[in-house]
Amino acid sequence: MNATDSHALDPRRHVPGPGELAGRVVAVTGAGDGIGRAVARACALHGATVILIGRTVRKLETVCHEIETTDAPQPLIAPLDLETALAGDYDRLADAVLERFGRLDGLLHNAGILGTLTPIEHYDVPTWCRVLHVNVTAAFALTQVLLPAIRASQDASILFTTSGVGRRGRAYWGAYAVSKFAIEGLTQVLAAELEAGGRVRVNAINPGRARTWMRRQAYPSENLESLPLPEALTAPYLCLLGPASRGVTGASFDCQL
Ligand code: NAP
Repeated sequence: MNATDSHALDPRRHVPGPGELAGRVVAVTGAGDGIGRAVARACALHGATVILIGRTVRKLETVCHEIETTDAPQPLIAPLDLETALAGDYDRLADAVLERFGRLDGLLHNAGILGTLTPIEHYDVPTWCRVLHVNVTAAFALTQVLLPAIRASQDASILFTTSGVGRRGRAYWGAYAVSKFAIEGLTQVLAAELEAGGRVRVNAINPGRARTWMRRQAYPSENLESLPLPEALTAPYLCLLGPASRGVTGASFDCQL
């Protein structure tokens, strides 16, 4: 059973109001492409100041420019390669957030890599380590370093990205599936640790099938046209990153019915 069964809140039915995220500062990893790009743009269009975190600066600049052509608050680009970033890189980002905004109201861990679809028996060990590092360890490290800024918010939301294969194991999904099980665990552990303060909620979201590069990698023969565009999936993210989810923590949601 996931949280959509156990909570009254159903982000799948959320209809974002204009300016719903006004005044909020929201950081999105993997903001240059796919779901991260769509959610970052949607957050900005609903009033948030967005911090665009990602590894390909050219893509981040494009998203930044797209946002700048609207009435949205000026976004900030924060290049960070989650595979190679060292402690100093994380510290610099956290310092910049605190210095510029004094707080962080939303943090979406969206960046991820698939690795390979291979039986465990044959899974390449360096690929395994890379997937676990980008999908889990880097998300942990980024959360840890940003916690002072998150704690400075009156109403903060940390949102991790999970997957169906992180709730029920599936053959050949290897490190990717295991990384998403770890994300489900990280969500629960951190939510329990932060619950007492009542000001920081921690949840996970499974976007489901989406028309992105990662999906094409996983299902190369699938007709991508049959899948929803990332832009069609943003409302549940706005719900969970914004005031609509206040008071809900430790849960794992689905983005699609
Ligand atoms: P995507 O199109 O491949 O986008 C992934 C994003 O992560 C890109 O912006 C990419 O940056 C970034 N990224 C990858 N490695 C990185 C690194 N080392 N450092 C910083 N950023 C890095 O994938 P997506 O489908 O939008 O997936 C987004 C999230 O949803 C992932 O967590 C994925 O597991 C989850 N998900 C997706 C689906 C689906 O059907 N698409 C289903 C379930 C869950 P570059 O563009 O610079 O490479």
